[in-house]
Amino acid sequence: MVSSEIDMKELAIEAARLAPVVLLTVVGVSIAAVFVFQPEVAARPLADDNEEFKVVVDRFADIQILRYRVPGFDELSLEQKKLAYYLAEAGLAGRDIFYDQKYRHNLLVRKTLEAILKSYKGDRTSEEFQKLVVYAKRVFFSNGIHHHYSSIKFVPDCTRDFFVKVLEQSEGLPLEGKSFAEFARFITPIIFDPDLDKKAVDLSPNTDNVKASAGNFYEGVTEDEVIKYYEELEKRSSNKRLSFGLNSKVVKQDGRVVERVWKKGGMYGPAIEKIVYWLQKAVDVAENETQKAHLQELIKFYETGDLEHFDRHSVLWVKETEARIDVVNGFIEVYQDPLAKKGAFESVVSMRDMEATRRIAAISKYAQWFEDQSPILPEHKKKNVTGISAKVITVISEAGDSAPATPIGINLPNPDWIRAEHGSKSVTLGNIIDAYNYVRSQSPATEEFSATPEIAARIKEHGALASTLHVDMHEVIGHASGKLEDGVAPPDQTLKNYASTLEEARADLVALYFALDPKLVEIGVMPSIEVGKAEYDQYITAGLMTQLYRVEPGHDLEEAHMRNRQLVSAWVYEKGRSDNVIERISRNGKTYFQINDYDKLRDLFGQLLREIQRIKSKGDYEAGMKLVETYGVKVDQELLKEVHQRYADLNIAPYQGFIQPRLIPVIEGGQIKDVKIEYPEDFLAQMLEFGEKYSFLPTRN
Ligand SMILES: [Zn+2]
Repeated sequence: MVSSEIDMKELAIEAARLAPVVLLTVVGVSIAAVFVFQPEVAARPLADDNEEFKVVVDRFADIQILRYRVPGFDELSLEQKKLAYYLAEAGLAGRDIFYDQKYRHNLLVRKTLEAILKSYKGDRTSEEFQKLVVYAKRVFFSNGIHHHYSSIKFVPDCTRDFFVKVLEQSEGLPLEGKSFAEFARFITPIIFDPDLDKKAVDLSPNTDNVKASAGNFYEGVTEDEVIKYYEELEKRSSNKRLSFGLNSKVVKQDGRVVERVWKKGGMYGPAIEKIVYWLQKAVDVAENETQKAHLQELIKFYETGDLEHFDRHSVLWVKETEARIDVVNGFIEVYQDPLAKKGAFESVVSMRDMEATRRIAAISKYAQWFEDQSPILPEHKKKNVTGISAKVITVISEAGDSAPATPIGINLPNPDWIRAEHGSKSVTLGNIIDAYNYVRSQSPATEEFSATPEIAARIKEHGALASTLHVDMHEVIGHASGKLEDGVAPPDQTLKNYASTLEEARADLVALYFALDPKLVEIGVMPSIEVGKAEYDQYITAGLMTQLYRVEPGHDLEEAHMRNRQLVSAWVYEKGRSDNVIERISRNGKTYFQINDYDKLRDLFGQLLREIQRIKSKGDYEAGMKLVETYGVKVDQELLKEVHQRYADLNIAPYQGFIQPRLIPVIEGGQIKDVKIEYPEDFLAQMLEFGEKYSFLPTRN
């Protein structure tokens, strides 16, 4: 699933709240940050620090490379640091697996590129060589030769002849018994022919998607054969709830369809052995018995390939909620497989985000105060409101399917029966979102679309915190607030297809109404009311204008969050027109929306909140429909065209990914005395370092 800008965190949380199934791999354009001083909440001075901590470190093709920090790592206990280190190593040990899963020649291509980058004797500054470097970076970013998001094969901009010349002047190529000429003939079309193995995952209708997909989950079998194979396997199995096919490749052997299982001694054995080695070390320093037990089940799963162990691991993993350090490790998401059976290797090592937890608790603590002060009608207020609490983690290390492009929310495990019987864990990745929010607030789009330099400066200073707080309030006190009148059915029955747009608008309006309230300064979640103003500027600009960037020309708004944002913005714009609350300005053919009166705008937000709460509380379908259809659906196509053009001129990379922090054990007398964390700045260097340290698989598996 892809979204972008403002609602990435929102979508992650929303998906967790509304449709709990998947780990969201959100790759889109940027977002979020936080800094808070004052009592109650500890400081995370991101905006200031980031001037020294470079968040954006590389830009190539359609990609921007960022860094994330791990605030609080140094305060972990030695045992926790060791646990994080072992788990991070266990994740990186599986890096090769994901490459090979995506395409059978990915490791060959990667090792060839690594050899070139390390040994090429020719001119490295030439334009042609730089094109090859960009290609290599794209391969590293996508964990293979297919685009990480579209899954379509990309090819280098340099010529084949140049590539072969580079090969000739390189050493350490993975020839594997081939002569140089044979090797060059073999690898050149794999890299340069766009039609050879064109798509990693082909989902087109009326096609044998198994045959049409270049992914490495099947070989020599048809879609029908695979489906039949698993139907029979399930029939024979005493446990029908297993995730059949999750950890294997399906091939034909002597005319029979068989599975090659990913396990110790099986396919991917050499990498899995390393994973197990590090997991065993992690077991020794586990924070509690449940964590120890789930890691042990995971080890048994890798050792035997038996899916029962993975389910047992998942059940215990869900139950483990006390430890500071947590991990996702295994064959998890099935998006890379057209039949959605095969799990891509992935690892996310994290710690609970105490800072976000404190911030959310601070808002939650005053949930009743916010409800009492809300502009909604007294009969629609809750007498006893409890804030909804969101769980936030700090990422320490990611590998496989979650790196360099990362999800921003995780909601696991995937099997429905585990979710129904044991629940699930749903978290947002706080430090990743911080990095996105920071980058977004600093983006050239801030200047481009702000009516004045002062407004742009305020967004640069406060916009990241404003985004984070907006989402916190939207979730914690927004969705939690208000009540239905007696006898009124739930909104999905009364407001039907308009229910989610109106619910999102309601939650946004609670956040917006209170964003300008001195109470937020008083309880220490925001340094000054300027943060609230920055949020108003960002919100109105997005709702009336910049979110159109993500809408195809000729289309109207479909998605609930986008409809809600335009509904809210367009309504207050129209209602405030006689007082010139928001002014539409046209300058040199460019449109701007400038807020002239923040207090009046707050009052308008309050009025709309009261009305939407009334619609929900009474189940007034007619009024709800009228609001959404009048303000939230139709797109001004002229303005859309202008927005697309202005964004195109800014040349902002649509995809982002991250360099991983480096965990370094400090060893004295054979014992780990401490674990230090470093933040490398060079993407290519890290990719080459990983290639040296974690290359455990041969080129063919
Ligand atoms: Zn929401």
